[in-house]
Amino acid sequence: MIPIPDLHTHSTASDGTLSPGALIERAARAGLTTLALTDHDTTAGVEEAAAAAAGRGLTLVPGVEVSVTWNARTIHVVGLKVDPVNPELAQGLARLRAFRDWRAKEIGRRLARHGIHGAYEGARARSGGQLIGRTHFARFLVEQRLAADTSDVFKRFLTTGKPGHVAGDWASLEEAVSWIRTAGGQAVIAHPARYRLTRTKLLQLIGEFREHGGCGIEVVTSSHSRDEIFTFARHAREQRLLASAGSDYHGPEQPWLMLGRLPPLPDGCVPIWRDWSSCAVLDDAARATC
Ligand code: AMP
Ligand code: MN
Ligand code: MN
Ligand code: MN
Repeated sequence: MIPIPDLHTHSTASDGTLSPGALIERAARAGLTTLALTDHDTTAGVEEAAAAAAGRGLTLVPGVEVSVTWNARTIHVVGLKVDPVNPELAQGLARLRAFRDWRAKEIGRRLARHGIHGAYEGARARSGGQLIGRTHFARFLVEQRLAADTSDVFKRFLTTGKPGHVAGDWASLEEAVSWIRTAGGQAVIAHPARYRLTRTKLLQLIGEFREHGGCGIEVVTSSHSRDEIFTFARHAREQRLLASAGSDYHGPEQPWLMLGRLPPLPDGCVPIWRDWSSCAVLDDAARATC
């Protein structure tokens, strides 16, 4: 049986640990036939991934995961089938990476005030010269034995109220969706359960997202429980959004998360990969067929 497409993965172009080529190699071995590379705030890995995919008969969907500040929270919006060199998208992402550079230095300064020195340099060394994310800080702090594992680092140092926390100043929701659409892509709300929004806030997010031209939501993703998969399948149907599926794979260091193992979308969802040519938000006719 061919696994369903995996439309959310990371490489060393952001905070993944496999190069784009190695990621494709592993995806092909796992039996995947369609994979999207969706690095945080960059499309730098897409060219290498596309070349590797062509050699393996795998369809590479060029993508990106855009960091967004919405109502003082960080939300992630995945762009699928984007033109990776579209100037408007490229300019927008460059602004987010400039903020990342400043933020990384600021996290370093804050950790230094807390008695942890060399964190910026450590994170930068672990980023391989590409953009710096909090995951790179986490890897450094774990190696320094200042925390047990990555999630321990986030809990103790990097989240709100903790010594290395720096508030996000990312794209607006409107900007993120507009960059993705201008680049010919489809915008998808990533891992919606992770934001722990109330029902009212979630419906507000989906409403604004749709108004700006967003058309999809991740229903199946590794951080969703079985119940959450069904909850978000219902939201997708009721809010007329296309359903996406993506592992959010970051590399083999997370052995519990394997490529090619996503469960199927629940019945009644319209998969975003059913018709790539249409970003039309679902109309009644499309709903009737699902
Ligand atoms: P950034 O975009 O640099 O702020 O970092 C966000 C990334 O950090 C996410 O994409 C995850 O890869 C990782 N991350 C966020 N929260 C956690 C957590 N609690 N445990 C492990 N990794 C996390
Ligand atoms: Mn990440
Ligand atoms: Mn994310
Ligand atoms: Mn991700």
